[in-house]
Amino acid sequence: MEISQKITTEVLVVGGGLSGIKATKELASMNRDVLMVTKTKLASGSSFYPLKASLGTQVTKDEEDHNIFFKDIEDLSRGMHSRNLAEAYVKDIPERVKEYKDIGVQAKKLEGERKACFANHPRDIYLLSDWDQIRENVKEIFNQYDNLNVMQKTVVVSLIKKENQIVGAILLDDKNEFVMVECQAVILASGGFGSIYKHNLNPADVDGSGHMLALEAGASLVNMEFIQFIPGITTPRYKTLFGEHTLMYCRDIIDEQGESLLDQYLPENISKKDCLEIRSTHGPFTHSLESKYFDIAMMDNIIKTKNENGFTLFYEDELYDNEEEFYKVYLDWLKEKNVHLTKQEVKIAPFAHASNGGVFIDEYGRTGVEGLYAIGELSANIEGANRLGGNSTGACMVFGKRSAFDCDQYLQSVKAYRLSEADGQEHLEQLIKSIDSVSPSENKLTANKMIDQIKEIMWYHGNVVRSEDRLKDALKQISEFESGFMFADLLENKHSRKLAIKGRNFIKVAGILLQAMQERKESRGAHYREDYPAEDSSYDKRLFISKRDETLSYNFLYQ
Ligand SMILES: Cc1cc2nc3c(=O)[nH]c(=O)nc-3n(C[C@H](O)[C@H](O)[C@H](O)COP(=O)(O)OP(=O)(O)OC[C@H]3O[C@@H](n4cnc5c(N)ncnc54)[C@H](O)[C@@H]3O)c2cc1C
Repeated sequence: MEISQKITTEVLVVGGGLSGIKATKELASMNRDVLMVTKTKLASGSSFYPLKASLGTQVTKDEEDHNIFFKDIEDLSRGMHSRNLAEAYVKDIPERVKEYKDIGVQAKKLEGERKACFANHPRDIYLLSDWDQIRENVKEIFNQYDNLNVMQKTVVVSLIKKENQIVGAILLDDKNEFVMVECQAVILASGGFGSIYKHNLNPADVDGSGHMLALEAGASLVNMEFIQFIPGITTPRYKTLFGEHTLMYCRDIIDEQGESLLDQYLPENISKKDCLEIRSTHGPFTHSLESKYFDIAMMDNIIKTKNENGFTLFYEDELYDNEEEFYKVYLDWLKEKNVHLTKQEVKIAPFAHASNGGVFIDEYGRTGVEGLYAIGELSANIEGANRLGGNSTGACMVFGKRSAFDCDQYLQSVKAYRLSEADGQEHLEQLIKSIDSVSPSENKLTANKMIDQIKEIMWYHGNVVRSEDRLKDALKQISEFESGFMFADLLENKHSRKLAIKGRNFIKVAGILLQAMQERKESRGAHYREDYPAEDSSYDKRLFISKRDETLSYNFLYQ
């Protein structure tokens, strides 16, 4: 296997979602040579997931709100957030929201103020929508820069480092050829890892590959056990985003036998109405509120029955009388998708949706590896054990800009390292060896089947309801894949190279997630352990994961 070509640029941006677009535009405007690489197309990832109506961005109101907003983030994070990043967000977001238009995104301010998901205080919310139009706008804007190139359908498979400095990367391009990029800095903006779950509300291009690139280059991961699950529609249109605010008008949720699901799980002091009302205020599951029984009931039932069809909701007809913009936008959008919440049977189930944890960064997106930045959902950003709604899109803007600014400064001081063809070839050979350094086994699964099995394992064992036994069992199954899967043949064949890389990443990412879930023997925020159902102050620390000399270490630290 050979490197087919070498490309030289100053900065490589990995990812064509909101954060990648923002960082790329900033760098291009500073006259930096930028190459953006995206697994699928420009304006992709969770940012432009087509089965959702809109995305919200929450914005600091005024000077007085700074401390209040910061405190909202802090309270909700259950001590697991990065203070410096939260402070940067609260300070910068009022200016960054004005810059949406510069990257082709129409951000419409909702009338009045609204409490974002989990928020204690109302603020301005900006709604982003119309994904296809945004894609066209971004293309037009990017075309204005001669110093900006985009490679679509291209996967970054490895980063090249000399000492502690990033000097390049290996890509698999749209023709499945290996390409070497020579660059001085890399901004990873590759999103989360939702697609590692069987049921998820993400496109298939967010699969944790950026987490592995960062970890293998020497960066650390943190908070990986805090994954957001939200109810999603299973019937009549699978994988459609569910608006939790509609639960305000929900009378009941029933199982396949027609039994009320909540009756079986609610403690005596919480009424069904109270549980549904609280649940209508937040999208993702949280252990921190009494509405937790809603999601626990669904997932526990699925684990026991293996029935994944979902649970039927019964709504009051008044739902469609609510004229608030927030309701109207969502219900009209559902109508376009031929979904009607009171006229049709509508079923929901928990879906994996966003990762709160990720690459550990500072307030400029720096990872501790020279020239390597991580931004957007890939990074452990301002959120902790829970994530306040409307801050992830905003964080793409805030840290997209900050990383580009710092990268520009870095480029002024760093000496360019020239990579020879031999360097690239040597790196590629090492990469191939590392992918395939396992012993042959009896395993008869195809790579696609193995990927499907990992998704199944993750969904049943690493979902909202977790336990030591199930996590141990899941880890055992993953380690059998790790020691028994050979990718050499897949790499030889050009058409299955990307599959080989994906299969290997799935094994690694799944192992890391399950191990992190097992390490945290308590329940906190998005992380719920049925065998440790309470928050435990001895776990008031964050779980850091790093890789040294091929060994992964998991350490709880006050950092
Ligand atoms: C259904 C849903 C609703 C949401 N609602 C909200 C909301 O209302 N408000 C809010 O703030 N947040 C919301 N979020 C979260 C928010 O949308 C995301 O966190 C954010 O958009 C992520 O942007 P990103 O640029 O970091 O990554 P993404 O948009 O996921 O982009 C990742 C990019 O990286 C590329 N990529 C990945 N790996 C590689 C690789 N190895 N090589 C090359 N390219 C690669 C992908 O192709 C893609 O282009 C929601 C998420 C979902 C799924």
